Amino acid sequence: MSHPLSDRINSLPVSQTLAMAAKARELKAAGKDIISLSLGEPDFNTPNFIKNAAIEAINQDYNSYTPVDGYTELKEAICTKFKRDNDLSYQPNQIVVSTGAKQSIANVAQVLLNPGDEVLLPAPYWVSYSAIATLCEAKFVEIPSTIETDFKITPEQLKAAITPKTKMIFFNSPNNPSGTIYSEAEYRALAEVLEKHPQIFILSDEIYEHINYGEKPFSFATIDTMYDRTITVNGLAKAFAMTGWRIGYIGAPQWIAKACTKMQGQITSGTNCIAQRAAITAVLAPVSKIQYMVDEFKNRRDMVLELLGEIDGLKLNVPPGAFYVFPDVSSFFGKTIQGRTIHNANDFSMLLLEEANVATVTGEAFGASNCVRLSYAASVAQLQEAIQRIKNVLS
Ligand code: GLU
Repeated sequence: MSHPLSDRINSLPVSQTLAMAAKARELKAAGKDIISLSLGEPDFNTPNFIKNAAIEAINQDYNSYTPVDGYTELKEAICTKFKRDNDLSYQPNQIVVSTGAKQSIANVAQVLLNPGDEVLLPAPYWVSYSAIATLCEAKFVEIPSTIETDFKITPEQLKAAITPKTKMIFFNSPNNPSGTIYSEAEYRALAEVLEKHPQIFILSDEIYEHINYGEKPFSFATIDTMYDRTITVNGLAKAFAMTGWRIGYIGAPQWIAKACTKMQGQITSGTNCIAQRAAITAVLAPVSKIQYMVDEFKNRRDMVLELLGEIDGLKLNVPPGAFYVFPDVSSFFGKTIQGRTIHNANDFSMLLLEEANVATVTGEAFGASNCVRLSYAASVAQLQEAIQRIKNVLS
């Protein structure tokens, strides 16, 4: 029997980060000794002070439907956080809380994009950006960058990519998968180009904001001329080790927030009540409370760069944020390793999975076909073992 699925779902690619994580889990369940560096997920537990807030909420009988855009107390707490951490002034009616930043981004795309609109994606970019644009029947336009420029695009490239059909650009700093952080000056130079094109909206995904090693990330909406057309996206997953709690949010012009609420009201309604109560405690907590995780990520990054640096042929840069390294592996293309000819980053990633038992994500998924992504949100012992295995296979 044929399965008459819609063209929409048939043309949608599977999320490669999730697919690789699922594959690693499957192989592990089948008895293979896989080390998964595929998923961008902190290996810490959610801090106790946040867990206690959730337990309290259960005991206080928070169990009813929540307002579609989030509890007022949470939206107020998010406004306080935006002011404190980002020098951004938002009112609660500009905030929408969603089931993870992924839903926040999907809402924004759904309410702003029409079929045929163009969305600019500075590459490398997170896997789901392109898929979310495609679901809106918009066309995504990649702006490439390489490891030589620390994976940053230039204002000239941005200018050249803009057409009358350009409706949005998705920025993400600190970046997944490259760990790159744009400086204030770099963002201001890009904003100067965008100032000449008032039809373009900016989605600024700041989910890795707190995972930085000294270089404080800049919030795009603090540029006066950009505030009215920027949607600031953030969430709790990465900084607070709360991936499974699914809390994301936006700060946006009120009319966009209102439209996102309308969209969400027809698809998921308000986000989980317990997770929202815990989120109030999390967003109001001083950033110093999560610094131990950031410090540990930095130690791991330094160790991973040192160990990977001993492998000939991997081109590396120093990512100042997030918890990924994104080596350029193109020097292996055309070579035969363990009887396999490596044509591209997919082959390289599969080589690591099948011969080294290490799961990574191909750069193809992120619009960067010379690279692979390794998440270092794993234990030191696992990272050391994984890199040793990679080294054995490649030498
Ligand atoms: N954002 C994480 C990653 O890139 C989680 C998986 C996903 O949603 O893509 O690995």
